[in-house]
Amino acid sequence: MTSQRRAYLIPFVLCSLAVILFFQNLNSEPTTSSIPIEIDTIIKEKHITTFSVSPLSQTSVHTHPNAAWVSYPLDGNTDLHEALSKAGIRSSDIASLSKVQHFQELKLQHSFIERMSFVFDASSLVMLKFFAEDTEWEFIRTSNEWQVQVIDAPPSPQLRRIQLDVNGRLYPALFSMGLDRGIYHQLLDALENYIHLDLLNQSPYTLNLLISERPRHLAPNQPLQLLALEFKSETAFLQLYHHTSKHSVTGFFKADGTGLSHTFLSAPLEHARISSPFQRNRLHPLLGYSRPHRGVDYAAPMNTPIYATSHGEITFRGPDGGFGNTIIIQHPKGISTLYAHLNSFAKNIQVGTTVTKGQIIGYVGMSGLATGPHLHYEFRINGEHQNPLTAKSKDVVTIPQAERTLFEQKVATLSELLVPSSEPLLASYNPYNEPQHP
Ligand SMILES: [Zn+2]
Repeated sequence: MTSQRRAYLIPFVLCSLAVILFFQNLNSEPTTSSIPIEIDTIIKEKHITTFSVSPLSQTSVHTHPNAAWVSYPLDGNTDLHEALSKAGIRSSDIASLSKVQHFQELKLQHSFIERMSFVFDASSLVMLKFFAEDTEWEFIRTSNEWQVQVIDAPPSPQLRRIQLDVNGRLYPALFSMGLDRGIYHQLLDALENYIHLDLLNQSPYTLNLLISERPRHLAPNQPLQLLALEFKSETAFLQLYHHTSKHSVTGFFKADGTGLSHTFLSAPLEHARISSPFQRNRLHPLLGYSRPHRGVDYAAPMNTPIYATSHGEITFRGPDGGFGNTIIIQHPKGISTLYAHLNSFAKNIQVGTTVTKGQIIGYVGMSGLATGPHLHYEFRINGEHQNPLTAKSKDVVTIPQAERTLFEQKVATLSELLVPSSEPLLASYNPYNEPQHP
């Protein structure tokens, strides 16, 4: 094809692409409505399974004929304790709930819970429900304790504790326990801040892992989440706890609430192959002469999402000559990152936009001077190009004071589960073991 014909073709291709993207966006609008479903409907439609408690007395519900349900959405980041307290539940009620094992379990897995509803009479909380995608937990106050029911209980998120004695390579050991690449990466992310990763494939060590999971057939896209880990070798001992922070870094922390965190993601996109490394000199494939390659090229399929590698402000967004569609982010400490050859930009990404680490900023393409879809990624410190793969920076992070109590409660529970003596408690975590209704 002559370059002239190609020049005519480009606007046509771009227009078609724009039309396709437009319709894709239309189709990707959420189809589920967020209107809360009436409680009664849920109860009617779902089969009720009584869950390891004494038979339910209906009178406890009907003694409050005028009671109204109050419903609150939960964002997955809010601890149940905090959510209840914000919703005006008295601390004495929360304290009595906290003695119930089911409540403790739900607290640990609160990110799955989408909504809570409750009824209280003049003096206290009478009934409380938590809703996840396909499960409801119902707490009903009887004279002096709480009865718990799990309604239509497909297996709920459950905790799994795994002890691994590794003497050799880590990944096959994890794989043999039915764990996937996702857990492997979470584990590496957690450990690489504290120990040299070479240790993992050298001397023998023991790993204790606490993992929250949902059955794959119910939640194929729900990743397993590593909640806590213990690493023990001859030379190192480490316990780390996962914490999702509303205000600062999410990641793995020591029991005292401190942690180390990579300021930058190790790569701006997933499942990428490095097609061209950072080089002071190289032969440019299209220009045909030697020119330094001042970034890293990640080959990836068209429209693979590209993440901001750290928080910062967008200082450039648009076409930039041979770089094609380009984004530049200015980060603290004089660091900036550049993302080139994008097919398109993410919505709401403009110059001046503040982005967070891991936020999608655009999609892989081959705009500008490119032989195939890839991302050209640059890392500069005070304007000087650095190799993004080696220029790493770490921040010491601490859990904010406001979240400290929640974190300490979580650590208290998880640390008990993490050690092997907690076997009986763990066994009761598995809803699979409950008899299934026909
Ligand atoms: Zn490049």
